[in-house]
Amino acid sequence: MDKNNKEIRTRFAPSPTGELHIGGLKTALFDYLLARKNNGSFILRVEDTDRKRLVEGAVERMIADLAWGGVKVDEGMKVDQNGALAEVGKYGPYIQSERLDIYKKYIDQLIDTGKAYHCFCSPERLAEVRKTQQQNKQAPKYDRHCLNLSPEEVQKKIEAGESYVIRFKIPEGITTFEDEVFGEVSVKNETLGDQVIMKSDGFPTYHLAVVVDDHLMKISHVIRGAEWLPSTPKHVLLYEAFGWKKEMPKFVHMANILNKNKKKLSKREGSVSVADFREEGYPAEALINFIALLGWNPKTEQEIFTMEELIKQFDVTKMNRAGGVFDLDRLSWISNQHIKKMSIDDLYNQGIEFLEKQDFYQQFLKNTSLTTAEIKNYVKKILKVEQERLSKFTEIGIENKFFFKTAEELDFSLEDINWKENNAEDTKKALIEIEEVFQNIPEEKWTEEYIQEQLLELAGEKRGDYLFPLRWVLSGQQKSPSPFEISWVLGKEESLRRIQSVINKF
Ligand code: GLU
Repeated sequence: MDKNNKEIRTRFAPSPTGELHIGGLKTALFDYLLARKNNGSFILRVEDTDRKRLVEGAVERMIADLAWGGVKVDEGMKVDQNGALAEVGKYGPYIQSERLDIYKKYIDQLIDTGKAYHCFCSPERLAEVRKTQQQNKQAPKYDRHCLNLSPEEVQKKIEAGESYVIRFKIPEGITTFEDEVFGEVSVKNETLGDQVIMKSDGFPTYHLAVVVDDHLMKISHVIRGAEWLPSTPKHVLLYEAFGWKKEMPKFVHMANILNKNKKKLSKREGSVSVADFREEGYPAEALINFIALLGWNPKTEQEIFTMEELIKQFDVTKMNRAGGVFDLDRLSWISNQHIKKMSIDDLYNQGIEFLEKQDFYQQFLKNTSLTTAEIKNYVKKILKVEQERLSKFTEIGIENKFFFKTAEELDFSLEDINWKENNAEDTKKALIEIEEVFQNIPEEKWTEEYIQEQLLELAGEKRGDYLFPLRWVLSGQQKSPSPFEISWVLGKEESLRRIQSVINKF
């Protein structure tokens, strides 16, 4: 509820013309935050009046992407358990193409009161008018050629089958409204052309439908991208024409997401669809955290937020006027912070599907004699070692594929594993001593700390002599997690197998 006891009702109103872009997720997120913060409702409405641009399945995919991000729809379009589209709420239909009779009623009302009129101008004529205006350095706008057609003339043309649109007659004067982010906006009405509100196919335009729907659905706040700010005066005039000005929603326009060159982010920059980020393995909460900070500033030092924290701290007055810059390094950093905070079980549950997509893991599953439960345990240990450095789930195992290989598959040269001036003899001796130490560690003491303690005791001052070859032997790599961590993950048996197989090669 707001100060006037009015329910806070926000809506995300995508056009199903493609994938959910991260700019769209940002809009939906702020709608959601404002609704949740005020115990209001977040509504999903589908704006499909532009019939030429519809993409099959786009609505379902958008809803799935929102759900993945934790942005839960209270009312409007949802999907049911079977994945089919379903509607919830008493202000439906929530798909504009199913509301044509509603729009027609309101369009007729404007025509009957002289606030809208039929226009029969052909596209060719309109292009001609535009061309002349451009030549005369005038802003392009409809020249009102059809404004004064008599009802009889209109009737005749309709009966003759002429194609027409309905235009809204922009009244004289100045239109002013308050935007919650951009402040007062004022335009001279003469700069606005007589807007088409119904197209020749009988569908309303966005401008008409958005006003009628936001009013009938009792939307309290229209949150949307700044690209719609210039259209808002037209909407305000429609609210006035219908006599709805008093209940007009508040407008909250959000600055666009920018690329590093401070230009509007576009598809050319690489991944911009939510599905891409999801497939790349960023945790949903990390992407949400990142996007929230592109439009809002908590005005504190805090940078890492859960959804709950965002809801608690969200405040429209802290929304940014300037567009946030989309910086992948920052996303990686935020994502790493979220992954570091996860429990191992959570990391496993979210990450395993990504690991399962890797060939090296599939190969491991084919070769291993471990049971399903042991495999799960094994992967969790690997995650424990990798957790600190992961910034997305697709990175799991990538740097440490040796965990998924057999001793025989580790490919390295014996010459590389000698520490500094040491020769093969020295290395072999060190490995034999390590083997003995490992043999003597009881299974129940096989922890990273204990292994470390034992190995350091063995090595004394000569750490390199022991740990350098051991790392190679266990991982087949010069750079890896510490040999203590690796031994712990591999377990006593497999660690010994790797050591022995190298000793045998000398
Ligand atoms: N259907 C419009 C879009 O896809 C919605 C604009 C609005 O929120 O008013 O961007």
